[in-house]
Amino acid sequence: MPAFVRVIVDHSPDREFDYAVPENLASSIVIGSRVRLPFREKDTLGTVVGLLDESDIEGIRPITALVGQQNAVRPKLIELARWMADYYACPVETAMRSVLPQVIRKADVGFRQQIAIELAREVSEMELESLRKKAPRQAEAIDAIRLHGGTPVLLAELARQSSVGEATFRTLVEKGILKTRIAVRPRDPNEGETFVHSAALTLSDNQVKVLAAVIESLDTAGEKKPMLLHGVTGSGKTEIYLRAIQHTLDLGKSAIVLVPEISLTPQTTERFRERFNAAGHVVAVLHSHLSSGERHDEWHKIATGAARIVIGARSAVFAPVSDLGLIVVDEEHETSYKQEEAPRYQARDVAIVRAKLENCAILLGTATPSLESYRNCLTGKYRLLQLLQRVDDKKMPVIQIVDMREESRRHSKKDGGSPLLSEKLKTAIESRLEKREQTILFLNRRGYSTSLVCNACGHVVHCPNCSVPLTFHRSSNRLNCHICGHIEVPPKVCPECRDPGIRQQGAGTEKIEEAVARIFPKSIVRRMDADSMTKKDAFREMLNAFRTGKIDILVGTQMIAKGLHFPNVTLVGIINADSALHLPDFRAGERTFQLITQVAGRAGRGDVEGEVFVQSHTPFHPCIQFARHHDFAGFQEQELDFREKCAYPPFTHMILVTVRSPHELRGSFSAETLARRLAENLPEGTILGQSAPAPMERLKGYYRFHIILRAHHILKTSRHIREVISKLTFPEDVIVTTDVDPYQLL
Ligand code: ADP
Ligand code: ZN
Repeated sequence: MPAFVRVIVDHSPDREFDYAVPENLASSIVIGSRVRLPFREKDTLGTVVGLLDESDIEGIRPITALVGQQNAVRPKLIELARWMADYYACPVETAMRSVLPQVIRKADVGFRQQIAIELAREVSEMELESLRKKAPRQAEAIDAIRLHGGTPVLLAELARQSSVGEATFRTLVEKGILKTRIAVRPRDPNEGETFVHSAALTLSDNQVKVLAAVIESLDTAGEKKPMLLHGVTGSGKTEIYLRAIQHTLDLGKSAIVLVPEISLTPQTTERFRERFNAAGHVVAVLHSHLSSGERHDEWHKIATGAARIVIGARSAVFAPVSDLGLIVVDEEHETSYKQEEAPRYQARDVAIVRAKLENCAILLGTATPSLESYRNCLTGKYRLLQLLQRVDDKKMPVIQIVDMREESRRHSKKDGGSPLLSEKLKTAIESRLEKREQTILFLNRRGYSTSLVCNACGHVVHCPNCSVPLTFHRSSNRLNCHICGHIEVPPKVCPECRDPGIRQQGAGTEKIEEAVARIFPKSIVRRMDADSMTKKDAFREMLNAFRTGKIDILVGTQMIAKGLHFPNVTLVGIINADSALHLPDFRAGERTFQLITQVAGRAGRGDVEGEVFVQSHTPFHPCIQFARHHDFAGFQEQELDFREKCAYPPFTHMILVTVRSPHELRGSFSAETLARRLAENLPEGTILGQSAPAPMERLKGYYRFHIILRAHHILKTSRHIREVISKLTFPEDVIVTTDVDPYQLL
């Protein structure tokens, strides 16, 4: 039994402290225990990370209590947090904050307890009749309870059903006719839903081969290589995941499935529930829309082993599963796996490390592998599995590139300005409407028009806090900043030169929706984006309406780009394929290729072949051409070549240091000083860039400066950065952040 423990205190990042263990707690304390302790005159919480027989600290103080469940953090997860702290250059305590959800750390939410009520004794007919005359509500209450045939019912529910107030039931309890008891009821995020069981499908020959490789990895006791499943859209990847999970359960182990937050649609989770719920398994779900009570209960379902399948967004990589057999990372290329606030981790990469720590199998799947993962296959670190044909040999959709420069030349002769929809796309939509097939139109911008520009002086209305133009929303008649949320009334005249000729420029989803409804007045058009999907069930309802054919044309943003499976969609239009192509980001080409491939993948998933129109102002750009030919092999070869020549990831690791301040000069001066210090004793093989204003120079009122480093040996470089930063003192309003393997370079 340990006499002392080493603890990470919640309030003090980055250091560990020793405490004594009182005798009465010694037998129950383990690594991972959450404990209450005195710290700098405060009563606070901490996590035990080590057990010690002796400690030479003088004046050591004892912990005061154990909190919540024993062994709240599994030792492997503490190890994972330590790795994260080292790799992502953040305090261990910051990493621990992700590993253990806030609601469990604070232990201030418990299980849902409710009062159940039942008869305390028999009530004779005579007694009931007399009650009916004297106190009819009480008689009604007894009737209501009798309806349930003797089993205890939740008081709140009974009161609702019977329209007899809770007070009446309580009076009967006082009289000794009824009695209550406390019932624990786990919250269920999917309460009230039923799932139709879906049986396993007969696998295609290719699926059989892929599954065999996954099972081999699950079965081996030795070292397991991570697997990357490159399967084109509609190739049946999900069926592979389902079978692999089944095998994991058969081995008596548990599985975690990571999906991007945005695709935590009913469609994705339903497929897992339909397969496993009916077979008696509990599927726990973790994502950002859970209430803290739901999160608490899901976490405990996992920790106690009641749920052996966990499906969730990036934080589910820390699910407290004990006998982990498999991690699946679906859509592994998705940038939403990256957390954009501290700790700035990449859930896919953390999953790889966790799999290694726990020696469990890990399967990454996607139609458009990230170059990081793909290169790991080329170097032999990962095993590549492929499904390069659609299920049942369905054809890949035919992708046509529409040259919008030509369209606008033709168009401008008639009525000026460039068209939103090309003639080709319009004709294609019309033919779908005639055949009662469905169309998806994709645009990466929400709102009506993307900026307000003065005809006379060229002034563009910008956000006062951020260096981006304000977006006009017609439904609310307001200008919005999509970054900081700033809202203002659109000016009638140019704020600069007072000219009344201020006009809207660029199109968002609202405008496309309006244009389509105008061109095809008889069709039913709906829009799906963050503005139209604010209500809780809006997403599910809209998808259902689309699935059942109540919508002809669905206009939307990223929300409709991935993972959706609608057999009657035979046409997809990408309104502006170039929107991401010219951003100052080395991944711009990769993102454009992925976007076209993923959006196009929504077409032709049923019996009718799909068709895709990609509108572009740079139709001959290689990324667009490779996507058009479904040529991932060609794309990755050219892209890797470019990355290698420029020493960009995946050939190096990038680290982005951002310095921000409300004062421009203080910010730039601090950034320059920091860059100079970083240059001293720079680890070998590190490329250090100069400090420079960020492409998005102002954001939420801060001036921002970037320093970009690239390194072959990331740990050495990230330690160097941490050390330099900790030794410098910055002015109070200057904030420095470090992002290892950044995805946001603007
Ligand atoms: P992906 O995730 O690769 O885009 P899905 O897993 O969504 O593909 O599969 C596409 C469709 O094919 C789904 O409707 C799925 O049920 C079906 N499917 C998958 N495998 C088979 C199979 N072996 N036999 C018949 N249908 C299958
Ligand atoms: Zn703003």
